Amino acid sequence: MSHIVDLPRRVVIGCAVLDEIARHIDELGLGKRLLIVSGSSATRKYANMVREILSDARFSVWNVEVKDANIDEVERLSSIAREIKAEVVIGVGGGKALDVAKAVAMKSGAKFVSVPTAPSHDGIVSPFASLKEGNRLISMKTVMPSLVIADIEIIAQAPRRLIIAGCGDLIGKFSAILDWRLAHKLKGEYYGEYAASLALLSAQHVLKYSSMYALKKIPMEALRALVEALISSGIAMGIAGSTRPASGSEHLFAHALDIVAGFPALHGEEVGVGTIMMLYLHGRNWRKVRKVLKRIGAPVSARELGVRDIDIIKALTIAHTIRPDRYTILGEKGLTWEAAERLARVTGVID
Ligand SMILES: [Zn+2]
Repeated sequence: MSHIVDLPRRVVIGCAVLDEIARHIDELGLGKRLLIVSGSSATRKYANMVREILSDARFSVWNVEVKDANIDEVERLSSIAREIKAEVVIGVGGGKALDVAKAVAMKSGAKFVSVPTAPSHDGIVSPFASLKEGNRLISMKTVMPSLVIADIEIIAQAPRRLIIAGCGDLIGKFSAILDWRLAHKLKGEYYGEYAASLALLSAQHVLKYSSMYALKKIPMEALRALVEALISSGIAMGIAGSTRPASGSEHLFAHALDIVAGFPALHGEEVGVGTIMMLYLHGRNWRKVRKVLKRIGAPVSARELGVRDIDIIKALTIAHTIRPDRYTILGEKGLTWEAAERLARVTGVID
């Protein structure tokens, strides 16, 4: 059986590296016709900066804003990309804009350039996009970015909550790896030790730097480590050829909670809480993860996520239905109401 590994061609991390974006696009020969896809709020100023830099370097540049990360939006922007014959789609933003931009790049046959403005999740490098289809969340395989420009100075301006959410998304790898190994043992699913180790390393990084993430002003060194860890996790997915190393039962819980409570919190915040509970099911050290999340100021309970206890229980009971093809510790039948309630109570998620 063959196995395809997609990797980014160039990853640039550092301070003020955005200024060099034109040179990198040129050196990689990605193209001259560029479509910038950005969010509509805080990230717009960065999209304008990118536009100015690239226009000055004599690229033909167009700007569009993402309204929502859904399939219809991808179709709308893909037709714009085709119309202007975009050779490169540049995603500038945190979550939504990058998810949509990579799908637009794939649909219009363009190269993808990722310019993350917040370290809130590991989609900044991965070829997988989380998109809404009706009220369902789907994971679409798109393209690996040809170029990633991670400007730490810009990322440092992101609200603290987004930074801590990125830590939560990475902590989820502890349970994701266990679920992947379980699926390998029970279902004969492909398992790649190297990709698994790489994803695990990114989670361990968060633990290592947790005292710094707990500080009011997070040091640059810790931010850089977070961005590198998010990139590693994305690359682990590229190596595995699936989101398996980065997404297990804790992600199923997070997606289920989004359905039950209508996207009540940030993705990484929900994943963190999910990880506490899934590690309990795996018989691992969930207390340690809970302690770290608490220490860095991430939510560890229903109240802190802004949901009712009943929402947590409901999400736990339907989590296994989110991606029936993805075997995890939740099994094929999922948790009963009683088991879900007990799980949430024992781990302190509900009281
Ligand atoms: Zn995630």
